[in-house]
Amino acid sequence: MVKLIVMTLTQRFYTRTFALYALITDETTNFDAGAPYVLVVPMLPVAAVTLLTFTLVATAIKQNKDINTKREDVLSWEDYFMATAVLAAKRSKDPCSQVGACIVNDDKKIVGIGYNGMPTGCSDDDFPWTKKEKHLYVCHAEMNAIVNKNSADIKNCTIYVVLFPCDQCAKIIIQSGLREVVYLSDKHESKETTQAAKRMFDSARITYRQHIPQNRKTEIDFEEINWDATVQRAPSP
Ligand SMILES: [Zn+2]
Repeated sequence: MVKLIVMTLTQRFYTRTFALYALITDETTNFDAGAPYVLVVPMLPVAAVTLLTFTLVATAIKQNKDINTKREDVLSWEDYFMATAVLAAKRSKDPCSQVGACIVNDDKKIVGIGYNGMPTGCSDDDFPWTKKEKHLYVCHAEMNAIVNKNSADIKNCTIYVVLFPCDQCAKIIIQSGLREVVYLSDKHESKETTQAAKRMFDSARITYRQHIPQNRKTEIDFEEINWDATVQRAPSP
């Protein structure tokens, strides 16, 4: 929204400046093929400075936080856990499918994180990433999250996964005593492996449900922590 306002204002400013310039130089009466370039080129620095000014003002407005009131626009627990799984997936070197998983206990503590990758000691550079061969070697995210757990017991925990688990991971999830599977995508629902996984989950009474995020995107800004509270506007009385 702020960007839209800035763009509109910049466009208006530019149009008016352009009209003024044309009026002064009387270029409008001699408008041939070369005239637009003669007019536009000198205006570019003006437009750039104007855009920069509006952007800085918009950023200042955006950062004008109320430091005396509790924040409300925080990540929900569900989005937080799924975002953790999505973030873990970004570590995956798989060229086709980057999957992450995050295991959470009843106290809302994360007790395991994993993503799909080659087993320990099997170099990413030596083992194949082709669609045909990688399945022989790659450890799926669910498996890695379970074996990487930092808790002695993950019984009755919930696993958040980017993609619905395959049949092999379903077996490990069941045998580990996990209680619930929360997934983001079920794009392979027609595959035999997914149907087998659901059959096993149903039989083992492991519930599964799709997570719908509150927002499609959650931004990570590594500079946000450097926001300076001294530019904060004085709280209203
Ligand atoms: Zn799997």
